[in-house]
Amino acid sequence: RENPGIQKAPMNKESNVKKVIGVVSGKGGVGKSSVTSMLAVAALRQGKKVAILDADITGPSIPKIFGITDKATGSDDRIVPAVTEGGIKIISLNMFLENDTDPVVWRGPMLGGVIQQFWSNVVWGDIDVMYVDMPPGTGDVALTVYQSLPVDGMVIVTSPQELVSMIVAKAVKMAEMMDIPVTAIVENMAYFRCPNCGMEHKIFGESHVAAQAEKFGIEHIASLPIDSDLAEACDKGTIEKYHSTPILKLAKEME
Ligand code: ADP
Repeated sequence: RENPGIQKAPMNKESNVKKVIGVVSGKGGVGKSSVTSMLAVAALRQGKKVAILDADITGPSIPKIFGITDKATGSDDRIVPAVTEGGIKIISLNMFLENDTDPVVWRGPMLGGVIQQFWSNVVWGDIDVMYVDMPPGTGDVALTVYQSLPVDGMVIVTSPQELVSMIVAKAVKMAEMMDIPVTAIVENMAYFRCPNCGMEHKIFGESHVAAQAEKFGIEHIASLPIDSDLAEACDKGTIEKYHSTPILKLAKEME
């Protein structure tokens, strides 16, 4: 993969990451971190060696979703990632903060520097697939992160309340600038399945994701329900015990 003009950070000798997938969204709160985590868990269930690089530095929620409270160990140039119960390796700025609730108020280029260190200075070991939880939006911060890492493919997470066409168009444009293919769109909170009657209710209206995927030639789509079990799993740090059939299917398709 050559991307002329863009200086990617080198990886350390102790690490070999075969594939990097960036997970993006138009704004915060649509479920990007949840989807990143579910994709990682799905890959783990497929028997892969999996890592998550939490690049959503302004709201790093990955450790919490996996119930990780460890701080980072090692040294500045040999950072040791946290490992989940299932064996997913995780690095997040949260693991360097004194308090989880400390706000992070850095600007794009500084964030890019941190992400580059997460890539270059963390002892990842052998990884089949690394998911990168990107900062929300398609602005400077996200671009800086993309410029720092050798990303192989992008997954867009949207929710039905959003102007999906605009989000997708922007993400596709960013991906084109970086010469990265957009692999999938995940529509989160697309419907609610009534626990009493079993009917699927499209609370926010009809989905426009399939049309967008076709328009931009994006191969894979997945639709996720509003599910209080998922919210609870993310809240309690038990995402590795949560099963999402559409995400598992998507992970298989994306292989
Ligand atoms: P983002 O990373 O886009 O900011 P998160 O993944 O942190 O969003 O999700 C925001 C909140 O919504 C979290 O509390 C999460 O548990 C919840 N959530 C995400 N997806 C769903 C869903 N499909 N059903 C129910 N709750 C969800």
